Formats: sequence, structure tokens, C-alpha cells
Amino acid sequence: MGDTMNHIERIVASMTNAPVDRLTTLPLASEVNRRLVGATNREYCEDPKVRAAADIAGWKYFGYEAILGLTSLSIEAEDLGTDVWFPDENTPQTRNPAIKNVEDYETLEVPEDKMFTTMEGRMGQFAIGTRMIKERIGDGMGVAQGNTIVVPLVCGPLLQLTQSTFAEQVFMDMYLHPNEVHKALKVTTETATKHIAAQAANGADTCVMDYLWANYSVLGDKEYNEFEGDKYGPVCNKAEEDNGILFGIHSCADLPNMDVQVKKWKPVYFSYCHYPNMVGSLTEAEVILNGYGDDTIMMGGLNPQMWVRATPEQMREATIDMLESVSAALVTKGLNSRFSICSGCEVPPALSTNMANIQMMVDTVKNEGPKIMEKAGLPKP
Ligand SMILES: [Zn+2]
Repeated sequence: MGDTMNHIERIVASMTNAPVDRLTTLPLASEVNRRLVGATNREYCEDPKVRAAADIAGWKYFGYEAILGLTSLSIEAEDLGTDVWFPDENTPQTRNPAIKNVEDYETLEVPEDKMFTTMEGRMGQFAIGTRMIKERIGDGMGVAQGNTIVVPLVCGPLLQLTQSTFAEQVFMDMYLHPNEVHKALKVTTETATKHIAAQAANGADTCVMDYLWANYSVLGDKEYNEFEGDKYGPVCNKAEEDNGILFGIHSCADLPNMDVQVKKWKPVYFSYCHYPNMVGSLTEAEVILNGYGDDTIMMGGLNPQMWVRATPEQMREATIDMLESVSAALVTKGLNSRFSICSGCEVPPALSTNMANIQMMVDTVKNEGPKIMEKAGLPKP
């Protein structure tokens, strides 16, 4: 059985909860795609031309739904003054943080405009890469066969801050120096909104916001809401709407605060990770049955370690398990298509990642998904 809808038709149907030929699928592959074009990870992260070529190659080769953009979580932090090290074959890492003491929260500044728009800034390079992808694949929101949407990742205000120093330091300073932390968060919030605007201006169809610290194993409601949830997050979310793009979230937190991020904020899609060994981590079916898919496409996730450790046959079985449990839960909730078969976080850029597992997930959704959905009682388009 082959696809009867194209990517855009399927994505739009899923947004409106209309019946689909099969569920959408998006293994969060980005840096790993460099291997398809013979580039190093350093080249992928530093050169927008390499990123564009690799991301288009991955999308075409594996046949998944959309093009995710991600060159590590260090982009905003580097433009805010953190020194970042680019290993040849691993994700860029913080070497010398911008914030070393309390005073540095107060002197943090929004990067100059050129950092968002030119090759001088990481955010600028990232936005230029988005434009290169769009120029090559055409207008993603058209319905031409084969087109799709481009989805660059933007770090939320609190994540930018923890990337600009150390997470433990920020959490401690929330108690010891809240005023200084708030001052820095105003800067990272404006940085996020300007980054969103730059991505939108270069053709991004949506920015996926990473609000990693909306995580019950780290912060309670009171702390999260004070330092992101009440003020800063909503400003970023609105920036997506103001720039005319779709608003989405990725959080691979172990216990994501979905009541704020999904039920209150109502993103178009929410990408999360299920951790089988973590008490309280919701399964894919529980996420749907608890109502999180009522207004949002929930993008549920196999454990990222599976990309390295699982055999393709184990990947096939895990994908079938997810398709079966999700299809049954959708039927129970009277939903048609508000779930996407994804990885819980980025497919590891490591050389040990088995690329055959990416292919297996996508092929299983395409080849076995329609039968599983029909058996569960989901309607056809
Ligand atoms: Zn993640």
C-alpha cells in the first residue's frame, strides 16, 4: 500500500484532525544527515550550504515528513558571548560560558542585528541555511507534490540562559539572585523573538521552541512559571504567530510540564520523549487519553538511545507497538490524526547511530501503518 497523500496534505490534515492515509512520521534527524553528503559535523554546523544539502538529502533519502533544522543548542548562547567548541564529529559544546558570575546576568545584551541576519552570527548562519533549503525545495506551504515544511529549532529563554552558563548555577541563582536572573531572561526572550523573526523572514514555516526546563524533575510549577511559563515563554509563542508561522514545541524533558506547554499554550505540535524507566513518564497512549492530543499534534518518541543500540528489527517492532497503541488511543478519544511517529529527541549525531534504523521507522509507518490504523478503526481519508 503506498501513500495517497503528499507531505503537505498529510500535515495539514493532521493539524485539523482530518483522516489521513497514514500518520505523519519525523525521526528528528538533522546533524546525522551530514553522513549522506560526506561532511563532518563541524562542517554541517558551520556551513549553511552543507546543512541545506544534508537536510534535503536526509528528507529525500528517508522519505520522512518535514525538514528539521538543528545545529546544537549552542546557537543563541554563542551569539550571546559563549565560546563554543566544534568537534569534528560531535555536536558543538560550550567551552567558556558568557555568564561566569552574578554581574554577568546584568551585562548580558541582545546580539547586534547582523548576528541574526548575516554569516557573522550563528543565528544568521542558521537562518541563511533555512533560506537555502526553501529555495531548493520550493514553497513548503504550497500543495505541490513532494514539498514540505522547514522546521528550525529556537532555544527558549531559560534554555539560552543555561547554555550561557551552567544549569545548576541558574537554578541556584533563581533563589539567590532572582532579579539578576530576570534581567538576563528579558535579554534571552528578546533574542528568541528576533531569532524567530529572522527564521520566518528566511522562509521557516514554523520554529520549534525548545522549553527544556518545563520539566517536573527539575522545576516545580511555581519556579517554572515565574522564570519562563508566565512571562517569557508566551512572548516567544506570540512571536511565532506575529511572524505568520506555526507555533510548535520540542521538549525531551523527562517529565515535561504538558499542562502549561500543551493545554495552556496550545501549540500546533508538541514533540516529547517517553522514558519507559521513569516513574510518571506518560506512554504515547496515555498522552492521547489524557487529552493532550485534543488540540495539538503530539509527536511521540522512541527512546533516542534506540537509534544507536537497537537492531532494525527491534526498531520495526517498537514502531509497530507505537502505531498500535496510538491508533487504539486515537479511536478511544474520537481523534483521527493528531499524533506523529517520531524520535523523542534528536537522532544522535554520533557515528555509531545506525542509519538503517531511521529508514526502518519511516518504512514501517508507511508500509504497516495503514493496516494497523484500519484494524483499530481509524477512518480513511
Ligand atoms: Zn531534545
